[in-house]
Order: sequence, then structure tokens, then C-alpha cells
Amino acid sequence: TELFQPERPNSQGYDLAHAPTLAAIDAARNPLRNKTWQAGPLLATEVAKGATQDVSNPADPSDVVGTVQHATPADVTAAFDAAKLWDAPTAERASILNKAADALEANYAPLFALLAREAGKTLPDCVAELREAVDFLRYYAAQARAETRPAGTYVCISPWNFPLAIFTGQIAAALAAGNAVLAKPAEQTPLIAHLAVTLMHEAGVPEDALQLLPGGGDIGAALTSDGRIGGVAFTGSTATALKIRASLAEHAAPGTPLIAETGGLNAMIVDSTALPEQAVTAIIESAFQSAGQRCSALRCLYVQEDIAPAFTAMLRGAMDALVMGAPWDLSTDVGPVIDEAARQGIADHIDTARAEGRVLHALPTPQTGTYIAPTLISVNGIEDLTREIFGPVLHIATFRSGQMHRVIQDINATGYGLTFGLHTRIDDRVQFVSDRILAGNVYVNRNQIGAIVGSQPFGGTGLSGTGPKAGGPDYLLRFSAPVAAQALD
Ligand code: GLU
Repeated sequence: TELFQPERPNSQGYDLAHAPTLAAIDAARNPLRNKTWQAGPLLATEVAKGATQDVSNPADPSDVVGTVQHATPADVTAAFDAAKLWDAPTAERASILNKAADALEANYAPLFALLAREAGKTLPDCVAELREAVDFLRYYAAQARAETRPAGTYVCISPWNFPLAIFTGQIAAALAAGNAVLAKPAEQTPLIAHLAVTLMHEAGVPEDALQLLPGGGDIGAALTSDGRIGGVAFTGSTATALKIRASLAEHAAPGTPLIAETGGLNAMIVDSTALPEQAVTAIIESAFQSAGQRCSALRCLYVQEDIAPAFTAMLRGAMDALVMGAPWDLSTDVGPVIDEAARQGIADHIDTARAEGRVLHALPTPQTGTYIAPTLISVNGIEDLTREIFGPVLHIATFRSGQMHRVIQDINATGYGLTFGLHTRIDDRVQFVSDRILAGNVYVNRNQIGAIVGSQPFGGTGLSGTGPKAGGPDYLLRFSAPVAAQALD
């Protein structure tokens, strides 16, 4: 079947509302429903034998998706020894990165199968994630410049919530700038990382320019404490980013760049002039899509008091329409959270709120798999959230007319500054709030997730990250060393 691909400025993606396209994608990934995958380090040198671990499906603990052999700290040393800057001419590097993008698109079926089974992604999330990965490759390829110098051996440490898009984005940027890359995928999602790197090697990325080191915190620590490190791109928790910074301070050269994209306590304000249907749709997407496991996700909603009762009733109704289920099922809106530790942490938070009588609404929870039902919790304000709850849990507070200034102050006082949403029909208010809110990405009258490479560069300030923004025009510069003086002659 010819898949229908709509015209778009970036990667085309697939139109899942087009029934033959949906059926063709479903059929293509179907043979991979029970495949058992193998992954391990991909090094340009001999590999030590690390421990082997099963990777299971968060929606179904009986489904072992594959096994992964971890890298060892000795592998990290060997990988640094073997690492080589990618010194091919800029145009050739760009052409190979574009080929890698084509290879990812051509392999959508195994990628979607793994995204669903290893990471719990619904099909719309799989499509969005592949598009973003492809966009990163092509965007950074287009930005590669002959006149910059690579920073050295770049360590890329990526999260499980975007095991293809963010994993690929970090690597693509580092490679486009001519660095050698040592990539450590999240411990929960090594299989998809292994497939992505294999495809990049097949597309022509040299094996000594891109090496893969699956493993846990010990591998991350070994990577960031080797004095030969040229820079770090990290996406994950704020706490881990601070540990990496400390490790670089101790072991690396003074100027070693750290690009960290970390957590958020993201808010949205809905005032009494907002279009309720538009706001409710945006809230449902922002809080519950990807089971709330995006650092951009909405965590604390402020609704103007006058409209709050009717608005909250609408919101509950929209929550009731969400289908929880296996990510592989086409009807599923909300899949599982990534693992049992994540589930427990979120469940504890909900239990505390329930004991305090603050749970306003919750869906029934499936019995197997690491599920958290979409839940609505009332709070006085964002100051009641003492940590980022990385799941489908939305907190709601009200404000009165005249309190806008205070609400903005409270949001800014969290110290985080990733995404922010505003729903209003007052133009002056858009300006007033945007001028004052501390957030990397501000979205007005729409959802606040799913930043598009090139048009919505993504990244935060304060506790949410260092910048520069991913998918933006100055990201690549941080992967490059200052140009030597004589090169300017
Ligand atoms: N870039 C993603 C978005 O805009 C979020 C990335 C993340 O969760 O780390 O939704």
C-alpha cells in the first residue's frame, strides 16, 4: 500500500486518520509483536563482557522484549581510546546524516514495534517520535559548517521518554559538528538505541565516530569522569545534571560544555475569556498524552475562579473519554508509565493527595502492567508541588481576577522554567504574561507539548536546563570548539 504522507515543512510523518495508511502500518509492525531482540555495546574496539539483563514491556511484564548486555567501565576507557573525530568533509557528513534519516523512515516498522513494546508508546506517539528524530538529523545536517571545529569526544546521555527522538537528536548534533560520540541510552530503552545506532552505522557513520554504551549509572559516571571528555549532552533529571556538572568540574578541562535539558513544573493559566473546548482539549493533550511522561507536560493548571466549576466538569468529562490500555492497541490514548519504580513514586503522590481528600477525579486503573490512571488533584497553587510528578497527574488551582501577577510570581518561584501555557482572548494579557513568565517555551491558546524542530526550538531556563535549545539555530555551536585564531586569517 502507498502510505499517505501529508505535505509538511519538516518530515512528512504518516496520517493516521487515513484508514489505509493506518492499516498498512499496523500490518507492517505486526510480525514484530513477539520478536525477541538482542542488544549490547557497539564499540570500535573489543568489548568486555558486561552483565546481561532482560528488557520487559511496561504494559505486560510477561512480554520479554529482549536482552541487553551492558557495557563495563573498562569498555568506557576502551571507547575513549578508540574514539575518532568524524573528519569527513562537511558535505559528506551532512549527506550521511540525511541517509540515516532516510534509513529511520524506511525502518519505521521495527522502530514502532520497539517504541510500543520497550517504551510503552502509543502509535500516534511513535509517529511523532520518528518524525522528530528524522527532523533532528536533517536539521543539524543542514546546519553543519566547515568553519567550526569539533569539541572532541562528546558524551550523549539520553532519557527513556524519547528513546529515539532525543537519543538521535543529541547524536546528530554532535556528529554534524564533527565530534566523536559516545552514547549512553537510558537503562530502560537500550534496544531501540541499538537499532538506531545500527542504522546510522549502515548509513555510513564511522564506527569509531559513534559508539554505543548501554548501561546504568555506573556507565554514566565512568563516561563523565574521563578527563578526555570534550562535552556532554544530557537530558534527564535536574539532580543528575548537577552530578554531571560536579564530575566535569573535577575531571574535565575548564571549558568543557554541558548541555542539560532537565525537569519542569509546567503551568497553564486559563482565564474566564478562554474558549473552554479549546482549553480542555489542550489540557488533556498536555497533561495526559505520552502518559504525562514528557518534561514539557502540564503539571499545574490555574483556572479563573468564576468559570472553575463548569470548566472542571468539562475537564472530568474529557478525562472520562480517555482510553487506557496496551500501547499496541489502536484505541489506546494512555499507556503505562515506564516501570514499577516510576509507578510506585507516582502512586505514592496520589495516595497522599487522596488521604488529604484532594483527588477530584481518577480513571480506573488496569490490573496488569505499570499503569497510572489519569488523575486530577486539587492544590492551592504550584507551591504545593514539591517535586516533578512524571506521569498522568494534573494538579488544579483557581485564581481570582486581579491575582494574575501573584500567580506568575508563584510559577516563577518554583525555579523551573520549561513550558508554559496560556488560554485567553485578551491580547494585552498575552503580552503581559509572556513578558513576565520564566519559561523556555510559551504556548498561547494551544497545547504545550510537542515542540517542532526548527520552528519551536525547545529548552528551558533555571532548574530546567542550560540551553541552547534543541532544534534551534544555535544548538550546534555548543558542540563546537572556539575557532582557532589562525583559521580566521
Ligand atoms: N520536546 C518534547 C516536547 O516538546 C519534550 C521533551 C522531553 O520530555 O524531554 O514535548
